[in-house]
Amino acid sequence: MSTTIINYPHPPDSYTIETASRETIAAIQNQGFQRLLNSAWHKVPFYRRRWQAEGIDISRIRDMEDIQKLPIISKEDLEQSLRDFPPFGDYQGDYPCYRIQASSGSTGFPKPIFHTARDWDIITNFWARRLAAQGVLQGDLVQIAFTYAPFIVGFTSTEGALKLGATIIPAGSGAVTPSERQVEIAHRWGTTVIGTTGAYALRLAEVAEEMGYDLKKDFKIKAMFHTAESLTEEMRDRIEGKWGCKSYNNYGSVETGAPAWECREQNGMHINEDGYFFEVVDPVSKQSLPDGKEGALVITSLFKEAAPVIRYMIGDIATIVNTPCKCGCTFRRIIKIAGRTDEMLKVKGITVYPTAVEGALHRLPEIGNEYRIVIDKVNDQDHIILQVETDLLGEKQKELHQKIKHSLKTQVGIQVPVEFFSPGELQKELNVDQRIKSRRILDRRKNSGG
Ligand SMILES: [Zn+2]
Repeated sequence: MSTTIINYPHPPDSYTIETASRETIAAIQNQGFQRLLNSAWHKVPFYRRRWQAEGIDISRIRDMEDIQKLPIISKEDLEQSLRDFPPFGDYQGDYPCYRIQASSGSTGFPKPIFHTARDWDIITNFWARRLAAQGVLQGDLVQIAFTYAPFIVGFTSTEGALKLGATIIPAGSGAVTPSERQVEIAHRWGTTVIGTTGAYALRLAEVAEEMGYDLKKDFKIKAMFHTAESLTEEMRDRIEGKWGCKSYNNYGSVETGAPAWECREQNGMHINEDGYFFEVVDPVSKQSLPDGKEGALVITSLFKEAAPVIRYMIGDIATIVNTPCKCGCTFRRIIKIAGRTDEMLKVKGITVYPTAVEGALHRLPEIGNEYRIVIDKVNDQDHIILQVETDLLGEKQKELHQKIKHSLKTQVGIQVPVEFFSPGELQKELNVDQRIKSRRILDRRKNSGG
């Protein structure tokens, strides 16, 4: 079995692989896969245990095509491992651990993820690839407004930018550097790039306007990069319209690292395919689907030593395409994240994701940036109420109500009641300044006796 060590460089050395032929990429993936299988079998009890239980002989798994012989794992499997093998689970791998980061704990206690020094170096190289594609250059002043915490993105984005020769302003989230101070720093010091969630980018715009700044004249910001929360096209339009800068989406998680990023074309997120193998499967049958078909994303981190993910169903519904991109990068792209499987709702038989609702709402400039979906169970059906912010009252509010109804009907195909809040009311409850990830859904189904 080959155990060739592959380099996963950052720009400019990475441009060779980012524009390589599909044959070269496939060869690198096959090499990485062999090393990963070997490592997982000998050093990661979680995989060996599961594969042995299914009678899998890894010597018969020769290349990426054979990956379908391995079982798909889920978030629940990792959580079960944590319960069975406390405190770290048996998915970590027997390597010297350089640092522990953890998922944000959307369900219960944070899930620890070990990283070797090599894992960390590669993930931050992948961040450098992202940021280079999104216009970060040597000498840029990059303000990181992500939280510095067990959640991974604050640190990895910082180190990725440093690898490009940028200067970092480690502001952290609004919890440590309040929004007014973030705005002052960006203005006085001449920040050129901000890393933050899409929602917080809009919050900073509001705060800067309240402070009397002209967003397009008083700042030198040329780009913002986002991750952690979903970024709809409508939200991107709002950010770019307000700040007069480019807004870029990125895709990843603590379990996977930094797999995908948008290039300047903003037409989907390129997957770092030397380091990752992405599949799309039918969410129910788990059968592989061809490029261009929507299904559940299944991710394999080929480079990781500690806590590798091998056929990890991350919980996102998306489509992958292999069509050429004008930027010249030959990595396939995720063109659309439709939503999270655990956020999927059925409203009168129609499948609805919160991101689709968000898209419809953000088309209407009269509505504020924050919104919430409240779900009850009525007669065994999901019953949803939309909560939105607006400063309109009386007749104007009634007109807006009609517009929202029309937008939801035509864009999402649903009709739901709408509840209005004054500007700032929802924002306060949803804690946009300090949160790591948004909680757009208030689920009251367990209490509604349905
Ligand atoms: Zn591209």
